[in-house]
Amino acid sequence: MDDTTAMEDTTLLFPDEPAPVVVDHPAGTSDLFLTCDHAGRRMPRRLGQLGVSDAEMERHIAYDIGARAVAVALADALDATLIRQVYSRLVIDCNREPSVPSSIPEISEVTAIPGNVGLTPAQRDARRAEIFQPYHDAIAAALDARAARGQPTALVAVHSFTPVYKGESRPWHAGLLYNRDARLSLLLKQMLEAEGGLVIGDNQPYFVSDLTDYTIPVHAERRGLPYLELEIRQDLIATEAGQAEWTARLIRLLPRVWAAFTAGG
Ligand SMILES: [Zn+2]
Repeated sequence: MDDTTAMEDTTLLFPDEPAPVVVDHPAGTSDLFLTCDHAGRRMPRRLGQLGVSDAEMERHIAYDIGARAVAVALADALDATLIRQVYSRLVIDCNREPSVPSSIPEISEVTAIPGNVGLTPAQRDARRAEIFQPYHDAIAAALDARAARGQPTALVAVHSFTPVYKGESRPWHAGLLYNRDARLSLLLKQMLEAEGGLVIGDNQPYFVSDLTDYTIPVHAERRGLPYLELEIRQDLIATEAGQAEWTARLIRLLPRVWAAFTAGG
């Protein structure tokens, strides 16, 4: 009788590794509540680099390039709570229902992820329990606390998208995504277009759905919270100058979106 399988240690994170979730401005006074599902690109030591090269780890398949910097600067400027993931989306995608295949992708865009092939249920469960679940528990707890103290909340999900996907160039500077409730997304889309010179996607380059998303359907729509999901093209926020430009624009526009919304506009 060999019990090595039953005794397999599937713990993912060592005690000295960073927690998977960071909460900035937990007592933020803003009605805007920010999330950044793909902020990080850290790998748990036990996973090495999943067989992915250093060059590939610099690409959008590992994280949303520029999104963390923009989200952190917005949270600082607006005194808004921001909840962000620390580990790479290649470990487990925090914006996917864990039961769908793209949750732990074996291929991302056209890159094979060898370390995600042939996982045992226990290994999958460890990624969910140690990376995905604490992140979403933190969001749920923060939203519960806001509801309990009567603080209005608009969920703003910050993402970025690659300018070229599978060889196809994307024309949008940014996109506003939604599922069942387009209101805030379309308000920001109008305001961005009014800036002049910006091509803004309407549910492009992605759309939000229960199968391809998690944060918006679960935390915003199930609670009846207004929300928007913002995707900024990565080449526009890859540098500090680009991040500063987009942050300044959003610091100006996001409070106007919320004011227009709460005024019934
Ligand atoms: Zn993203």
